Amino acid sequence: MENKQEIFRLIYNLRQAGITDNKILNAIENTDRSQFLGNNFKHRYAEDIPLPISCGQTISQPTVVAKMMQLLNLSQKDKVLEIGTGSGYQAVLLSKLVRRVYTIERKSILAKEASKLISKLNISNVITIKGDGALGLPIQSPFDKILITAAAEEIPKILLNQLKTGGIMVLPLGPVNEYQILTRVTKRVDSFECEELDRVKFVPLLPNTE
Ligand code: SAH
Repeated sequence: MENKQEIFRLIYNLRQAGITDNKILNAIENTDRSQFLGNNFKHRYAEDIPLPISCGQTISQPTVVAKMMQLLNLSQKDKVLEIGTGSGYQAVLLSKLVRRVYTIERKSILAKEASKLISKLNISNVITIKGDGALGLPIQSPFDKILITAAAEEIPKILLNQLKTGGIMVLPLGPVNEYQILTRVTKRVDSFECEELDRVKFVPLLPNTE
């Protein structure tokens, strides 16, 4: 199913886009993205574009997935919270780079499918939760890193409160129906620092669950 040449081309694209962290590149090279796609899109797994998954949502573009992980400055000791499980692709990549991943999805169908796939892959350090990610996961907080994979108009303060001092949150920040700016927020003792990076387009962070 996987074509090595297509994967190498994808890895080359990622390097061209500024991904220098070999652990991230290895995780992407060794994770078959086709498993996270429906039959109509499986053959397009190596294309560096977002692709449709169920429920009108998308699996993110590999370059953007890699950039977000690079911005998080991941360490093997990290406990990470991901908001927006979607297909589970990014959660699986994270699982290869950190100690533990909690991933929250508001759509029960997606949460169920991702959780099934993650256990089929024998990955034991990812916990999939169906819920409203905007509320975070107070019981497991504070987190070393928080990744939001849906567009938010403002930095969610509830989530910022669940980040350790010195911790990093990465999110697409901006108007939900247009482009957003990939933003890295670093939490300080009484404040936070924001760095604005690339222009991106994500599906919106929505309230409640479905
Ligand atoms: N990380 C995913 C891509 C996510 S697409 C992947 O690797 O495939 C964004 C996802 O965020 C969608 O599945 C959407 O349903 C979910 N989402 C939107 N608002 C949410 C919220 N408040 N809480 C949890 N998930 C949310």
